[in-house]
Amino acid sequence: MSDIPSFFAEGTLVAVMTTQPLDRALDYKAPEGGCHIGAFVEVPLGPRKVPGVVWGPGVGGFDLSKARAINRVLDVAPMREEMQMFLQRAGDYTLTPMSAMLRLATRAPGLGDPPSMRKVYRMGSGTPDRETDARRKVLEVLSQFGGLSFTLKELSDEAGVTSSVVKGLVKQGVVAEEDTPRDMPFARLDPERPSKELTDDQAQAVAHLKAAIQSGDYGTTLLRGVTGSGKTEVYLEAVADTLRQGRQALVLLPEIALTAEFLTRIEARFGARPAEWHSGVTMTERRRTWKMVGQGGAQVVVGARSALFLPFQNLGLIVVDEEHDTSYKQEDGVLYNARDMAVLRASIVGAQVVLASATPSLESWSNAEAGKYTRLDLTSRFGPAVLPELRTIDMRAETLPSSRWISPSLQAAVTDRISKGEQSLLFLNRRGYAPVTICRACGHQIGCDTCDARMVEHRFLKRLMCHQCGETKPMPEVCPSCEAEDKLAAVGPGVERLAEEAVALFPEARIATLSSDLFGSARALKEQIVEIAEGAADIIIGTQLVAKGHNFPLLTLVGVIDADLGLQGSDLRAAERTFQLMRQVAGRAGRAEKKGTAMLQTFQPEHPVIRAILSGDEEGFWRAEAEERRQAEVPPYGRMAGVILSSTDMQQVFDLGNELARRDGPLRQVGAQVFGPAPAPIARIRGRHRVRLLVKAPKGVALQAALKHWIGQVRVTGQARLSVDIDPQSFL
Ligand code: ADP
Ligand code: ZN
Repeated sequence: MSDIPSFFAEGTLVAVMTTQPLDRALDYKAPEGGCHIGAFVEVPLGPRKVPGVVWGPGVGGFDLSKARAINRVLDVAPMREEMQMFLQRAGDYTLTPMSAMLRLATRAPGLGDPPSMRKVYRMGSGTPDRETDARRKVLEVLSQFGGLSFTLKELSDEAGVTSSVVKGLVKQGVVAEEDTPRDMPFARLDPERPSKELTDDQAQAVAHLKAAIQSGDYGTTLLRGVTGSGKTEVYLEAVADTLRQGRQALVLLPEIALTAEFLTRIEARFGARPAEWHSGVTMTERRRTWKMVGQGGAQVVVGARSALFLPFQNLGLIVVDEEHDTSYKQEDGVLYNARDMAVLRASIVGAQVVLASATPSLESWSNAEAGKYTRLDLTSRFGPAVLPELRTIDMRAETLPSSRWISPSLQAAVTDRISKGEQSLLFLNRRGYAPVTICRACGHQIGCDTCDARMVEHRFLKRLMCHQCGETKPMPEVCPSCEAEDKLAAVGPGVERLAEEAVALFPEARIATLSSDLFGSARALKEQIVEIAEGAADIIIGTQLVAKGHNFPLLTLVGVIDADLGLQGSDLRAAERTFQLMRQVAGRAGRAEKKGTAMLQTFQPEHPVIRAILSGDEEGFWRAEAEERRQAEVPPYGRMAGVILSSTDMQQVFDLGNELARRDGPLRQVGAQVFGPAPAPIARIRGRHRVRLLVKAPKGVALQAALKHWIGQVRVTGQARLSVDIDPQSFL
């Protein structure tokens, strides 16, 4: 790429990639003062002004006098060549047009704003005409914090005075008022502050990571260890070493694990808080983070998957914590897996990747087996905590009245914990009150009007809800089909119903239900989690939400209400998911001094997955699972891509699907096979009919190119949409 000029003088023709869905760069003339390659610019497009990036020299081939000029160059660091390359390769991999990739990389509010200023206050040189208590407090704060400057609000809050007191001191020159740029660099993180004393296996892992970081090359390490084994301690030392090298570090966490607790932990280690990037961050902070990352004013970013697209200046380390977590797969818009994209980005810039998990994905496990990733294992929990004891409750042998799900054995165990002042968790991965509402007169099941799905009763919201489209409606008074009165009945349990049962069984206990739809905001949920961790509940009833990274020190019993739930269905990853989820949930028990127990209610205690969970023979499970997938030539031992066609017109999607299936030449040429079209497992969402094709190919073929060629043969017009999902994680 070195023969491409890096600067274009005024009037030179340059190619600008915009975020508009045009799928190619457009030619513009460089503005007054010229522009660098990668510059963020604003260009005229029809009647509008749109953001874009200078992509390279213009193509030309038309009347140059017709070319329009770039309006202006934005006040942010130009996009680096490595970022261009990353977007290009990520787009090629996921078959995403560059305009959509660029949108991911420009998700900063106010990118085009002029650099804005704000007023800050520091100690001035004057003396006050008279001293008051309020004035003294302000001066105390200023002298206490030496040369630091404050915003008006910070200063008046800290001193406990009104802002007019500060303003009065400004008038007399006692306090100085200054303008500074609004987007300030983040406080420096100090890697030399003392770390914890590491155990032997932690120290070994750190030594390995340090050597890798010092090499300055790309590499990926799978850091495996049960929850509580100190994976975080280990990767924080890798972060420290990255900072010593003068490079930046990115720590990705599943959104729900992005807690104040984690930030405090970084602050405790490095003496300052990192930059944050996730949905809970204000627009102003986002803009600051985006800009500072690009200018080197942010050393560490803690964020959700989209932080991968921040314009790092010198990225040296990406940590993907809980790497197996399904939330790393973006399921809307650009379908990418943040774990894979982290590896791609790191390989382009010569950075290290740490994938941390107690229950790695089979993909990462097999990459480690194959020697592509280094594998490090932390074998024991830190301190006195030991792994929970795992047991099944054979539901065939328990006597339970109908519409009850807590077996007598589990009930006895919970009662025992309550008497000891310990916490129990009852886990059921189903939101709402009941998954099905049926009419006992005619057998009708209430479904969603626009999706092929049953409505789930949410008693807390007093409504029925479709978990596909989110549509809700009030619970009808009479059966919508036969109009019988008082015949509608709830069938099966959801967490809300389980909570009802728990209240009846344990009338004295304090019961807290944790399910995403019972909370107005992520913040409210996180607050509740903190309270529970401090002992505000005897029994926690929760969905998948509780399996992720929270620490409940008083929790010693986990009861899984339906361990068989995830094993149903045809999903390729059903076994893997159940295994991971059960191990994660069980791992919630006994994280402090007391030993924990996990009890799995199951109707099939002989099922290989249930047996693997109990035996704790993880390697055995992975080997068996890997062998099955290898036989079936499915990921990670083969390649897959899902194609979903949707339209309000059912005939149209089937016609399109059939046409694609017929014209499979480009796929057959590379040894790939196409299956379908078939109605997608959820055949209608929001009134759109959905048809699915599945492409399977041997590992190592150039699948994307073949897919592109194949899809390019059909015209997707009108209402129809086509989306391609490379390495699909779910088959909905
Ligand atoms: P993981 O990330 O594997 O779940 P953590 O790093 O969060 O584990 O460690 C679990 C707990 O043990 C944390 O409170 C952590 O501070 C503590 N811990 C881990 N290793 C050490 C150590 N070497 N010295 C002191 N505390 C440690
Ligand atoms: Zn619906």
